[in-house]
Amino acid sequence: MMAPPVGFWVVMAFLLGACVGSFLNVVIYRLPIASKDLNLNQPRWSFCPHCQHRLMPWELVPLISFLLLGRRCRTCKRPIAWRYFGVELLTATLFAALVWFTQANPATAVALLAFTAVLVPIAFIDLERFEIPLSLTLLSTLIPLARDLWGVLSREPAHELLWGWMPRSALGALIGVLIFGTVRVAGWLWKRVEAMGLGDVLLARGIGAMLIAVTPAGAHPLRLFPVWVLLSCLSGIVVGYPIILWRNRQQEGQELHERAENSAQDAAATDTQGTLWEQLRDIGWCLWLGDLGEYWRSVRGQQPAATDAPEAEEWRPEPSAIPFGPFLAIGFLATVFLGEWLTKAYLDYAFPPAPPGP
Ligand SMILES: [Zn+2]
Repeated sequence: MMAPPVGFWVVMAFLLGACVGSFLNVVIYRLPIASKDLNLNQPRWSFCPHCQHRLMPWELVPLISFLLLGRRCRTCKRPIAWRYFGVELLTATLFAALVWFTQANPATAVALLAFTAVLVPIAFIDLERFEIPLSLTLLSTLIPLARDLWGVLSREPAHELLWGWMPRSALGALIGVLIFGTVRVAGWLWKRVEAMGLGDVLLARGIGAMLIAVTPAGAHPLRLFPVWVLLSCLSGIVVGYPIILWRNRQQEGQELHERAENSAQDAAATDTQGTLWEQLRDIGWCLWLGDLGEYWRSVRGQQPAATDAPEAEEWRPEPSAIPFGPFLAIGFLATVFLGEWLTKAYLDYAFPPAPPGP
């Protein structure tokens, strides 16, 4: 039997992405405000956030229902936010592009799609609320680790243990935490501000681990890191600034400023009390998966597993005051598509290959 052409998989990935995006809309809406009555399992049906009208199956077809309904709720006629359509289209497009562009082996492709399905809600929640739910950053770390361990166990090339004991993804996670943890500690030392939220450091841990999976076989495991850091910061400047301006105008600055001021005050209040030791301990907490224990406790205690959960410990992570998460994610996706090309172009330019000897 002939294998289906790549176009078949690209179309399947697009359709899958649209359905996953539809679910991610539920995650983006419910996860940050999760409570006993409203969480990912409860209620079991989707509803209009304005009039609570329970949506029928034909009102839930990804991409299509939004357009057919004229961007309005059928019952209360109030507008549906463009975000719902945007998240579905974005996820579908990313899924299709990842399958088409990477032509990765099936295990890496599944890991990449799952990872992207975590990045999308992280970006939207962080942008809106200046925080990243613990469960999502945890998933962003566990997906690449699981993919890498699968490769180690099945003795796949490009998944060999480094120095005979360290999984490559663990090295990537470590370097991700060290790069953005250093930014965080430096901001604290310099101005006693939260330059980088702990959620961002946790996300950098996951992306660092995932970068290993898209590094070409035989290359140095950290080959794509410089271009990822560069593209993240660049996208923060190029995309982030207009978004902030636009959002300020959207919300007339009011609510956002209050929120930003509050979180800045919170951060300042806790940070001035903190010590360098506590700052370093927070970074260590990211390194040794302290959030896994925190998440486990929150699940057993039936509390919402968000970073704004009731303070369980004195040194709980503060919600990040600057939403850098979306830009770490954009930087990662840009690196998947352009990273190897940019790295090679730079290396060829800076270190031209020696002409063949006589
Ligand atoms: Zn409605």
